[in-house]
Amino acid sequence: MVESPESIVNIDGHYYYPGRAGSYLIIAGDEAAFVDNNTRFSVPNMMQTFEREGFSPDQVRYCIVTHVHLDHSGGTAELMKHCPNATVLCHPKASPHIIDPSKLVAGARVVYGDIFDELYGEIEAVAEERVQSMDDGTTAELGERTLTFYDTPGHARHHVCIHDSQTNTLFSGDAFGLMYQQLQGGKHPYMNYVCAPPTFEPTKAKASIERILALAPDHIGLTHFGFCTAHEEGAAMLIRNIDDAEQVSIKAAELGLQGDALQQFCDEGVLAYIKKELAYCGLDIHDDAVNQWAVNENQVTSQGCAVLATRLQKA
Ligand SMILES: [Zn+2]
Repeated sequence: MVESPESIVNIDGHYYYPGRAGSYLIIAGDEAAFVDNNTRFSVPNMMQTFEREGFSPDQVRYCIVTHVHLDHSGGTAELMKHCPNATVLCHPKASPHIIDPSKLVAGARVVYGDIFDELYGEIEAVAEERVQSMDDGTTAELGERTLTFYDTPGHARHHVCIHDSQTNTLFSGDAFGLMYQQLQGGKHPYMNYVCAPPTFEPTKAKASIERILALAPDHIGLTHFGFCTAHEEGAAMLIRNIDDAEQVSIKAAELGLQGDALQQFCDEGVLAYIKKELAYCGLDIHDDAVNQWAVNENQVTSQGCAVLATRLQKA
C-alpha cells in the first residue's frame, strides 16, 4: 500500500471484515475532518483513533460523506452526536437522505435483506442545520488546507470526491473503484468497480474516473480500502469492468429478461468478467481468500446490472 500522507489517518471500520471499508481522518492544525463515516458500529473506533492523535471531539469541523450508501454514511448521525461542532458536508442530492434517512433505509433493506440490522443498526436523522450541500467545485477550508468537492456520478448520483490541497490527495469514495489488499498478490494490481443499484450509470461512471485522473492526484484514498497503488492501470481495469457490466445489462434487456431469470443472467455475466480479470491478474478464483474477497462481492453489482437492464427495457 502507498504510504499515507502524514496528516491523513486511515481508520478501519471492520465492516464485515478488517480491511473492507474505512474512514479517513484529516488532521489540519487544531482541527480535523472525517471523510466517510462508515457504520455506527465503527464510530467508537473512529473516536478512539482521534483521541489517540491528541484531539478532542469538539475539534472535528466536518464529517464528510462521499455518498449515502450506508457503508459510507450509516454512522453519520452517531458520529455527529460525539462531535458537537461538526457539520456534515455532502452532495446536494445526498443531503435530503442525511436529514431524513427513511427512503434510504427502505432501499437498503431490499438490497441487504436479513443482514441489514446486523450490518447497520439504527440509522438516525441529522438535524438540517448541521448539513451543508456542496455543489461541484465548491470548497471548504480546514486549517491551512482547502478541500474541493467534485460531483462524480456513476456509482451513485449523490457522489462527491474531495480534493485536499495540502497533500494533493483525492478521496474517491467508490468513484474510483475498490482495491483490496488481499487481492494484490498477482502479476497485476486488481481493482473492481461496484455497479450499485439503483442508479448505476456507466457513461457517467467512466467520465468520473477520467475526471479523477485528470486532477492528477498524488494519492487516491479509496474507502475500500486505503490508498490506490495503480492510478492508470487501475483506471483501465475499472473502465473494462464498467463496459463489461453494461454489456451484461444490454444483453439482458435485449432478451427481455425479468425477475429471477434476469437476476440469474446478471449474476452469471458479472461472475464471468470478474473471473476474466482475476485470471488476467494471475489470481486463482478457487483460492478461498480470493473467492471471499472477489466473488462474494458481486451481489451488489449484479443487482445494479439487473436494475439497469430493467431501466433499458423501459426506455
Ligand atoms: Zn457506494
